[in-house]
Amino acid sequence: MSRVAYVNGRYVPHRQASVHVEDRGYQFADGIYEVCTVRDGVPMEEKGHLDRLERSLREMRIDMPMSRAAFSLAMRETIRRNLVTNGIVYLQVTRGVSPRDHAFPTKKIRPAVVMTARNAKAHPAAWLEDGVKAITMPDIRWGRCDIKTVGLLPNCFAKQAARENGAYETILYDDKGVVTEGSSSNAWIVTEAGVLVTRAPSNEILNGVTRLELIKLAAAEGLKFEERSFTLDELRRAREAFVTSASSFVMPVTQVDDKTVANGKPGAVATKLRAALMAHMEKQVAAAQA
Ligand code: PMP
Repeated sequence: MSRVAYVNGRYVPHRQASVHVEDRGYQFADGIYEVCTVRDGVPMEEKGHLDRLERSLREMRIDMPMSRAAFSLAMRETIRRNLVTNGIVYLQVTRGVSPRDHAFPTKKIRPAVVMTARNAKAHPAAWLEDGVKAITMPDIRWGRCDIKTVGLLPNCFAKQAARENGAYETILYDDKGVVTEGSSSNAWIVTEAGVLVTRAPSNEILNGVTRLELIKLAAAEGLKFEERSFTLDELRRAREAFVTSASSFVMPVTQVDDKTVANGKPGAVATKLRAALMAHMEKQVAAAQA
C-alpha cells in the first residue's frame, strides 16, 4: 500500500510530500498540530481536537486556514486513502512560507496545512497486564505548554531518555518537585486515600483531549476526583498512577524510576477508566457508522 499525504489541498504520494525550505514551521517551529486516534476508520474525539486546534491557532495568531468542516473532510479522506482502520491521523498547521525573519510576516500569508495517517499496532498485552515504567525528569519547557506547538525538542529529549532507560514515558516535574505532565501525555494518580487526581489546565500543561474525556467518564463512574497538582513524592506513594493521551489511551504506570507503584500491578481505577474509554470510543464508531 502506498501512503498518501494531504498537503495544502492536494493528496500526494507520501514520499514526495514536501514543504518549502522557508516554511516557518521548519525554521521556527511556528506551527501547531493535533493527533487523533482512529478506530475502525473513524477519527475519535473530533470535536475536542478541532476545538483545541482552533484554540492553538488563536493563541499563535494564525488564521484558521479552512473551516472545521473542511478539516473534518480532509481528515476523513486522508484516513480513507491510507486505508487506516486503527491508528492515528496527524494534522499540522504552520504560519506559512515567508523570508526568514523572527517577527511574523507583515504580508498576509497562507498557513500551510499537512495531514498524514497511519495504522498503529495494538498495545502489547504485557503493558496492560503489568503496567509500564516511567522515569522522571525536570520540565525544561517554556511557559506556554498549553499551545500544542510543533516545537517539541524538550519533549523529544524526555522521550529519548525514557527509551534509553527502558521506560514507556518520562513524567516531568517543575522546580518545586510538582508534576507537570508526561513528555507526550497527561499524568494521573490515585492517592493513598483513593482519590483520583490530575493537574488543572494552565500554561504549564497541554489540556489533553483524553484528559477532558476521562474526567467526564470518571464522574459517570462515581469516582472521587480532584483537579489539582501533585508532587513527585505523592506520585511515588500513590495507590495507582497512569498517563493518558490519544495514542496511549489510559496507560497504567507501575514503576516510577526505581520505585514500584503500590503492588506493581495496574490498579482498579486505571483498569476501569481504560475500559470506559474504550467503550466510549466504540460508541463513537457506532454513531459514525449508523
Ligand atoms: N501532554 C502533552 C505534552 C502531549 O504531547 C499530549 C499528547 N498530544 C498530551 C498531553 C495528551 O493530549 P491528548 O489526550 O489530547 O492526546
